[in-house]
Amino acid sequence: MARFIFITGGVVSSLGKGLMAASLAALLQARGYRVRIRKFDPYLNVDPGTMSPYQHGEVYVTDDGAETDLDLGHYERFTGVSARQADNVTSGRIYQQIIQRERRGDYLGATVQVVPHVTDAIKAFALAETDDLDFVLCEIGGTVGDIESLPFIEAIRQLRNELGRGQSVSIHVTLVPYISAAGELKTKPTQHSVRELAALGVAPDVLVCRCEKPLPDGERAKIGLFCNVPKEAVIPALDADSIYAVPAQYHAEGLDDEVLRAFGIEPRGEPDLERWLDIMDRLQNPEGEVTVGVVGKYVGLPDAYKSLNEALVHGGIANRVKVNIDWIDAELFENEDESEIAARLEPCHAILVPGAFGHRGAEGKIASVRFAREREIPYFGICFGMQMACIEGARNLGGVANASSTEFGHTDEPVVGIITEWMSAEGIQKRESGGDLGGTMRLGAYEAKLTGNSVVSSIYGTTSISERHRHRYEVNTGYRAMLEDGGLVFSGMSPDGMLPEIVERPDHPWFVGVQFHPELKSKPFDPHPLFASFIAAALRQSRLV
Ligand code: GLN
Repeated sequence: MARFIFITGGVVSSLGKGLMAASLAALLQARGYRVRIRKFDPYLNVDPGTMSPYQHGEVYVTDDGAETDLDLGHYERFTGVSARQADNVTSGRIYQQIIQRERRGDYLGATVQVVPHVTDAIKAFALAETDDLDFVLCEIGGTVGDIESLPFIEAIRQLRNELGRGQSVSIHVTLVPYISAAGELKTKPTQHSVRELAALGVAPDVLVCRCEKPLPDGERAKIGLFCNVPKEAVIPALDADSIYAVPAQYHAEGLDDEVLRAFGIEPRGEPDLERWLDIMDRLQNPEGEVTVGVVGKYVGLPDAYKSLNEALVHGGIANRVKVNIDWIDAELFENEDESEIAARLEPCHAILVPGAFGHRGAEGKIASVRFAREREIPYFGICFGMQMACIEGARNLGGVANASSTEFGHTDEPVVGIITEWMSAEGIQKRESGGDLGGTMRLGAYEAKLTGNSVVSSIYGTTSISERHRHRYEVNTGYRAMLEDGGLVFSGMSPDGMLPEIVERPDHPWFVGVQFHPELKSKPFDPHPLFASFIAAALRQSRLV
């Protein structure tokens, strides 16, 4: 039977609980254990799919088509275990299920309540499909003390009791702030937070203390004394240079050993950290440097492009080069002032237009595609970025001056249009063009067939791929012949040949547009081939200028 690790946060938000969970899972995996990480989000949205990236950061999409919290991206990048719908649940989804059951009459006669109905649903979520695992890590979003997280803490309390001794461990992540006026690290907030958690019936076994300065031994002992854990189980967690340094850093502080001890398992030997040390060596000793201009919409908040940012770093790891990202607001190019565009994009060795929704910034992105095409600078268009590459080709090489996307309103030249029917592994999928916006896109893993001898088939080394999607619109194959006459070749299609998946310009140093999100599957120890190839092209470009 799997053992459970429950992870809560205290004092403030943004303590990096997700990264801690991912790193601990990676350490346990490096000791040969089978792991899976799950996330409970206490908010009332059914999933984060309809939230603004400014509010919530990126929406991470799984193979099975779930729109999930961006922490699932960390989990997958650190463990290589593909996240699933069943790994992320929100209060909204739990209440939705319970209310549907109540209406169906499943609880006939009973009063439906937070305890036991909501807590039972939370426990069922934690326990589902865990038979073949050694450890299940469950991260609870939010901060202890929030009204919203109470049912989750209560569910953990019950579950710890039901699982029995030695079957679960509670880790609490807190902040030990440094007060510069006093020149001291302060342990009181941690003491209060642990007390609050203990009052809810969950006494932590291990404390992870985020701090800006090294935690002196005396303070560590003090926290242990007041919070009722051994001093060794108070793990100091200083900021790291790179997120990929975190697993080795936590190991050095004793995290995995203490977690195992809390289960009553005496750690044997050392975890195999080879892959993490190799990644760090490549990041710390680069042999070159490139700058990628990302022309996007939510550039004010890097979390909005979390996976993209990481995939570019992975491309750098693959080539042993440092990747600088210049986040450029597409709206800056909206007036199409060519000297302004050139001034901003000329220093870039490659240009990338990422996924996006809505018209704002689209013209600036189309102008960036044109700049990359004409100046022969490597161009990577992801989802919206592929759609804009097609509109650019139609307008500037196909003579269709008013080429557009129906996403921007009615157009007589829908080079990109809404799709209401397509084939999936589960059979034909249908949508209404004016239907619900939540959970109704073409989502999750879909196969694509690549043309032999194409640029992308040589990058992938195969002609059959599967990648994750999250979009409502598609490039209109009615314009295919015209776009191909302009040099933009449709080199990847859905298996039924209906939906364009990849376009490329074989006569350009590197110009690829993909309808899917390759960044979601890239890992530091297994960089995505498209990102590895794109950064290699940027490196060639950097040697030209
Ligand atoms: N807005 C576009 C669509 O829905 C692109 C989406 C995306 O880039 N993820 O098709």
